[in-house]
Amino acid sequence: MKIITPSFILLSSGLVKNLSVAFDKEVVLVAPLKELLDRFKDAQTIECKADTVLMPGLVNPHVHLEFCANKADLQYGSFIPWLHSVIDKREELLSRCDTKLISQHLEQMLKGGTTAIGAISSYALDLKATATAAQKVRFFSEIIGSSPNMVDALYGDFVARLDESMGITREGFYSGVAIHSPYSVHPVLIKKALKLAKERDLLTTAHLLESRAEREWLKSSSGEFKPFFQKFLSQDRAVNDVDGFLKLFRGLPTLMTHANYANIDELKELSQEQHTLIHCPISNRLLGSKKLDLHKVQEAKVEWILASDGLSSNYTLDGFEQMRAALMMQDELELEPFALELLNGATIRAADALKLNCGAISTGRAADMLLLDISSNTEQILPSHIILHKYPILEVYIDGKAQLGESHGRS
Ligand SMILES: [Zn+2]
Repeated sequence: MKIITPSFILLSSGLVKNLSVAFDKEVVLVAPLKELLDRFKDAQTIECKADTVLMPGLVNPHVHLEFCANKADLQYGSFIPWLHSVIDKREELLSRCDTKLISQHLEQMLKGGTTAIGAISSYALDLKATATAAQKVRFFSEIIGSSPNMVDALYGDFVARLDESMGITREGFYSGVAIHSPYSVHPVLIKKALKLAKERDLLTTAHLLESRAEREWLKSSSGEFKPFFQKFLSQDRAVNDVDGFLKLFRGLPTLMTHANYANIDELKELSQEQHTLIHCPISNRLLGSKKLDLHKVQEAKVEWILASDGLSSNYTLDGFEQMRAALMMQDELELEPFALELLNGATIRAADALKLNCGAISTGRAADMLLLDISSNTEQILPSHIILHKYPILEVYIDGKAQLGESHGRS
């Protein structure tokens, strides 16, 4: 047992002071120091330097690690030109991405405070790196393909990758199923994959209504996607419409990524079916999607969480940077309550959505925590300060184990 006494602790209800945390692999108790010392007489006390905040480790529920090699290869600004650039550069980007590069990015994410991820894996190139990472991982094997002739081959390849991920026995590593999107996966393939997910009790995720082009294509088989599908797949019509796609997920709470172009009825459906919306503000901005109407999302009572998406549509996987962007973009939401919402959307709510027992400093949760150096002798600290100030991270704990050496946290 260890006891740590930072200046402030970030709970899901807000920042508190004059409390300490007793933890081993899990958080055992948050209480005044004296009470913890009386109860846990053999506990080791961790000396913190002055002016620190202890907060839950960040959870990034949607990242494509196989695209880590991208920096300046892809075209930003609008979805379809970006997609063309992905198709042009895909082979090259994948050939430059190996386990070593992905491990380096995971290490960088760890130092930046990300202690759990949801990895969307198209080719299983990220399996080895995530299987040996320090972070908790929900590894979503992705299925894609809109051609009915290819259903059996694509399904076979998907099951093989899924089986491989389910063979990983490392603690903190879990499998899941990703359906790429309504425009890119044939309904027969979606049904087969979701049936398997139900049989194996696996969490599911999908991209949904990310771009205006997708909305138009799904509604009327027209718009910017039309020449794209004609050219690459000799396809004239969308394989799903939005309603039909969402119906396939009834009774299966799913992590739906983006949904910028979802209307109020679709948002209500997400809420009724207990789907979670994953918001990727930087990715949306770079690919020319309209800003997610978070006010409408909240009115429809849709649970939302925050993610980076991949480096194919972002310049960083840093969790604090995603919160900063959202804080600045969503200018109609009141600053401090929204800042706390963002912190919760990047910790406890994201962990719950990934079905991971972390994301909060509360009894029984995994002791996945960050110790920040706020370097100012202040009486009060606000949620927005934590998001905005890029405070140095003195220590990262996962399952109570110091990942950066613990000496960093000592005075
Ligand atoms: Zn994505």
